[in-house]
Amino acid sequence: MRVLLTGGAGYIGSHVALVLLERGDDVIVLDDFSNSSPEALRRVEKLTGKTVQVVEADLADRAAADAALADLEFDAVVHFAGLKAVGESVAQPSRYYRTNLNSTLNLLDIMRDKDVRKLVFSSSATVYGTPAAGVERLDETQPVGCGVTNPYGWTKAMIEQIITDVQRSWPELEAVLLRYFNPVGAHPSGEIGEDPSGIPNNLMPFVAQVAVGRREKLAVFGDQYPTADGTGVRDYIHVMDLAEGHVAALHHLQPGVEAYNLGSGEGYSVLEVVKAYTDASGKQIPYEIVAPRAGDLATLVADPAKANERLDWRTTRSLDDACRDSWTWQSQNPNGFAGA
Ligand code: NAD
Ligand code: UDP
Repeated sequence: MRVLLTGGAGYIGSHVALVLLERGDDVIVLDDFSNSSPEALRRVEKLTGKTVQVVEADLADRAAADAALADLEFDAVVHFAGLKAVGESVAQPSRYYRTNLNSTLNLLDIMRDKDVRKLVFSSSATVYGTPAAGVERLDETQPVGCGVTNPYGWTKAMIEQIITDVQRSWPELEAVLLRYFNPVGAHPSGEIGEDPSGIPNNLMPFVAQVAVGRREKLAVFGDQYPTADGTGVRDYIHVMDLAEGHVAALHHLQPGVEAYNLGSGEGYSVLEVVKAYTDASGKQIPYEIVAPRAGDLATLVADPAKANERLDWRTTRSLDDACRDSWTWQSQNPNGFAGA
């Protein structure tokens, strides 16, 4: 299959590119490199011995997207491109809505013009918003958009609706919405991994930067949640398991729109992640407990049964594997791709 990855130079896209190339698929990446480095794709080429066709363009700019994709042929699209920082989306909502929604609208128009019918979309567990009290393991029947607390999350919920409406008007469209839980880890080679710009928003890249000495200590956002140790519990999924989930989704597409949770089904607290990373790295990870972060939930864990059954996919890597692989990446690339 010839697969277009929008945003394919980013953290998750680069791992999906690698897995597709290893399987023998062809990969085209469209990226504006606003949050990634071309070095990630050079490393994917080095690891696989295969070539990635790269097109640099802003997908939110219709003219630029048309020009970039006009002469390209592909059978399927995995749509990663978009802005993803929750806090930034609160400060810059217009930019988030404009970029994430326009990118998707442009992509869907171009796919329709080219009659490319296969689409996998990077959604997020954030579309579940604030689940009803007592619901801790989320399945796909949970309502979408109830109590979403930030514009980033709204763009994901809105894009799910846009894809659903476009499919109603274009019944041949085969779309899957992948609701990721918490992607972590790196390719075991340590050649590619998560390279956040500025201060990391997410737990594991922050912990990784503390371990490598780039940051002094971790702030743990609250220890009075109703969880075993009082810190927040999340479902961490190794990025290689996540990447394999995309391959499974691409091979189970059928006309319609189907949503799948990609998670492990197991929850770990912030302090459990700190402990696992300490063990994996052999480094001290100093931390202090601070006030909870606004909008955070106590527990967010996937029920991945639907993806397990219908996509014939499940996670095979543990939190310890993710910490080990993250540490290999972080220790070999203390300044991310900037040091390359
Ligand atoms: P990332 O920022 O590393 O990758 C996104 C890529 O899209 C980057 O390479 C960036 O340069 C590119 N991009 C952004 N705007 C673009 C535009 N207008 N035109 C072309 N390219 C553009 O993020 P990621 O962690 O790899 O996430 C990939 C997708 O998965 C995103 O849609 C994100 O919202 C979603 N997601 C990520 C997480 C997570 O925790 N990493 C969780 C749930 C969902
Ligand atoms: N967290 C933390 N300190 C940080 C970043 C995150 O204590 O610097 C906690 C956060 O409160 C949540 C968990 O770690 O309980 C995962 O947060 P992350 O931002 O990685 O993902 P989220 O599930 O919020 O999208």
